[in-house]
Amino acid sequence: MLISRLRSFFCTALLFSLFIGLGDIHAAAFNTVVIDPGHGGRDDGASRGDVKEKDLNLKVAKKLSILLKAEGFNVVMTRDTDKSLSLDDRAFIANKYKDSIFVSIHFNAAASGLEYVKGVETFYASGEGQKIANEVHKQMLQKMGVKDRKVKRGNYKVLEKTESAAILVECGFISNSYERKRCASSWYQSLCASSIAEGVKNYRKKK
Ligand SMILES: [Zn+2]
Repeated sequence: MLISRLRSFFCTALLFSLFIGLGDIHAAAFNTVVIDPGHGGRDDGASRGDVKEKDLNLKVAKKLSILLKAEGFNVVMTRDTDKSLSLDDRAFIANKYKDSIFVSIHFNAAASGLEYVKGVETFYASGEGQKIANEVHKQMLQKMGVKDRKVKRGNYKVLEKTESAAILVECGFISNSYERKRCASSWYQSLCASSIAEGVKNYRKKK
């Protein structure tokens, strides 16, 4: 009886360690980056004048896609046109790719009266996501000359519903007139894309 209990304990322990091990292998073997340009279609996201967040997100996402493909990553975009997509749809697309990480791209806006607020911030929902967020955020601070609003845990549905390691990057505040001009420019969007790509590459190197 004792032996069979011991055997069952060791079997459970072995299965558990195999499970944990497989999780690690998954994270280590990721080859796909699911890029999620936030909002789209009927949902502009933040907007000020003719600057709409959904457009900026898509522009950065397309630039990021080119850079990551050049590095040999398989890239999946949750949308590559101006179309509406629910948060569930986005997570559903991401969850088809087991060897993936997930990068959601957004721009920020503060409430009226808080136009001075600016900077970049990167969110994660899991431990592995935090590692990616740290790498990406470090590159953004180094390359973009922006205020550091830190890496934070975020209760975003799209992060929580995505099974793979996931981050959400807020690339700047379009409610701040200085940042709005930068965010709407192609050179700044390229800088966002190259910072994210460099962070993803560095994360892969450390796996
Ligand atoms: Zn957004």
